[in-house]
Amino acid sequence: MGTQLMLAGLEQGNCGEAWNLTHPDRVLAIQRRYVQAGADCLLTNTFGGSRIMLNRHSQADDVVAINTAAVRIAREAFAGREGYVIGDIGPFGGLMEPFGEFTETQVREAFQEQAGALVDAGADAIIIETQTSLEELALGLSAARDAGAACVIGSMAYDVTRDGSTFRTMMGVDPERAAEFMQAHGADIVALNCGTGMDMERARQAVLRYRDATSLPIMAQPNAGQPKLVELKVVYDESPEHMVTGVVPLLESGANIIGGCCGSTPDHIRAFRHAMDMYLTAQPTHQK
Ligand SMILES: [Zn+2]
Repeated sequence: MGTQLMLAGLEQGNCGEAWNLTHPDRVLAIQRRYVQAGADCLLTNTFGGSRIMLNRHSQADDVVAINTAAVRIAREAFAGREGYVIGDIGPFGGLMEPFGEFTETQVREAFQEQAGALVDAGADAIIIETQTSLEELALGLSAARDAGAACVIGSMAYDVTRDGSTFRTMMGVDPERAAEFMQAHGADIVALNCGTGMDMERARQAVLRYRDATSLPIMAQPNAGQPKLVELKVVYDESPEHMVTGVVPLLESGANIIGGCCGSTPDHIRAFRHAMDMYLTAQPTHQK
């Protein structure tokens, strides 16, 4: 979503979530392109839609309106077709005491407010995504549960270590620990998204490690490679043709839901959709 908002004219540092109110047509056009590409799930344009994040853009008074509009836009994009609207909650964007300036209560209340708005607007699920710390993840998961979300997804962002031997979150959490923690804290789906150096092969490794630690469904949304600066524009270097070769290995490692994070486009999702359909057609025991 962030990548697509930039392409649609959002300037770096501006509030993309406010577009749900000011440019709903542009957000709808983006969501529609994903539906047309064959997506079954749309994440709402609410990554930074918590009070704490919106406050940076002096938009804190619009938390409910922004999140409500985002759900409505995503639902409209399906245009009557069956599909899941996943209410998106990203990190609150700071550190909690004693390391940072935010109290646990402030973060809990911000997540509760956002999750409540998303569920009240009719989101089918909530994803707490791009998480690196278990403390913040727990606050997000319980906010989603308390809001009455029918399905709660916890999604971690891993970074490949400097020596390339493994990956863990910025706060040092490895996939096994994350999966166990999410299962114990009421997640229905364990996921990974974004991160650094987490290509399709690394995502496959993460899914295998999740699979060892939990029986819950697994979702993977890797980035389209690494961001590079080309002529002052951020470009992601993995094409749909390149990424799609990792789809079947991801499925075979146990992933149940596959999508893309930073740099992925409707063309990536179209390629994924095609590869998944081919794979499922060849597997008579799988239900689409
Ligand atoms: Zn990302």
